[in-house]
Amino acid sequence: MQASWQPSSPDCGALTNSQTDKTLKTSVFEGHDVRHLNRSEVVRLYSSAYPSQREVNSCLQRVLSERGLDAAIHALHETVIQTGHIQDGWQRHITHRTHTDENDQVAFYSMVNHGRSHYSRTYSQPAAYLPEGALCKICPQNVADPNNSANVHLRTFDMTLNGEAYFIQPPPYPYGECHVMLIEHQHRDMHHDEGSVKANLEFLDGAPAFTVCQNSDIHGAGATIPQHHHVPVMRNFSPPVMSAQPLPAFHLTAQGVELNILDYPFTTIKVTTKDKDTMAKAVASLIGHWKQGEKGRMPNRTANYIMRKGGDEYCAWVFMRDVSYQPTQEFLTLKSEYCGYIDIAGCPLLSDKKTEAEQAVFLARLEENPQVAQTIRAGLKQLSPLSTDRPDEIHSLLQSCLADIHARAF
Ligand SMILES: [Zn+2]
Repeated sequence: MQASWQPSSPDCGALTNSQTDKTLKTSVFEGHDVRHLNRSEVVRLYSSAYPSQREVNSCLQRVLSERGLDAAIHALHETVIQTGHIQDGWQRHITHRTHTDENDQVAFYSMVNHGRSHYSRTYSQPAAYLPEGALCKICPQNVADPNNSANVHLRTFDMTLNGEAYFIQPPPYPYGECHVMLIEHQHRDMHHDEGSVKANLEFLDGAPAFTVCQNSDIHGAGATIPQHHHVPVMRNFSPPVMSAQPLPAFHLTAQGVELNILDYPFTTIKVTTKDKDTMAKAVASLIGHWKQGEKGRMPNRTANYIMRKGGDEYCAWVFMRDVSYQPTQEFLTLKSEYCGYIDIAGCPLLSDKKTEAEQAVFLARLEENPQVAQTIRAGLKQLSPLSTDRPDEIHSLLQSCLADIHARAF
């Protein structure tokens, strides 16, 4: 059931008051001659017309405790659309295309987010400005910062996951339903340990219609800010890899956990179990063994994974990554940025082109089915450091994981 909460609803007294406030302040604002104000003064004036971060957080705590996590995230989205942090009708700026080929078991789909392309080019740049106390662009001090037009209308709410303090933040250019990020309050590196996997599983317990999308801990495999742990989540997100079937030659099961390798161009390990602790151990163990197997000095090995809950069963699709593996040249003509979980999962997020002429050629190219499906398949295959052509390596990784789960059980 979708939440229908609005800031003016009786559910949220604090914001109802603030709406009255907003009307007053907006009329004050309209009476101002803003031509003499500098940019940050205008931004500050605007920000005061909306509910404060404190008001939003306290209201959403009430929604969270009374109506659950799904309703609280929905309410947060409504709020940031009202404040203008996310543009109303943002879905119109995303073009979806399906790419199929008779040789494929799964249908890929591509997304062009016309709003996000500029953002993704600038977001990975070092911050020119950070508020006091912030160490990066997603530290909590940035939220509702009156001196930054990019964050002044941002609102978030706090929650605890696996004993860690997190806050829930919507990105300015979402690409899926109720797309938000789970961000740890503490500024520390992305980490794929049992604790962070458990936090993600706890999130799924509270919001089972969502998919957790964990990016890597190394720049170049999908993390724009690897120095601060953050996890994108979206509601009703079922990327193509989720429909891929297991390859019988790689099936392993023990201690209530099932490990499969999927019939999918990027070699993917699917983990299924009903036990939360076993899932946390399995995912952390697989990624840990994958990293330990690295020979060189520079850390190139990392992982992405996506995770869902269906009934009482948890499912994770784990993508072992190595940043020294790059996609084909053909694939790079579709997407030149580094690939993250969304691309590996079969729905490449493609870049908008700079000029109209480039854009026209690019969009025309995307209509060429099934060539685009072949390009995506070849690109994903080339990006995968694990290959079913080297089954010993895969079996050894799966066996090490089962040994860790076994050791924990006894
Ligand atoms: Zn930070």
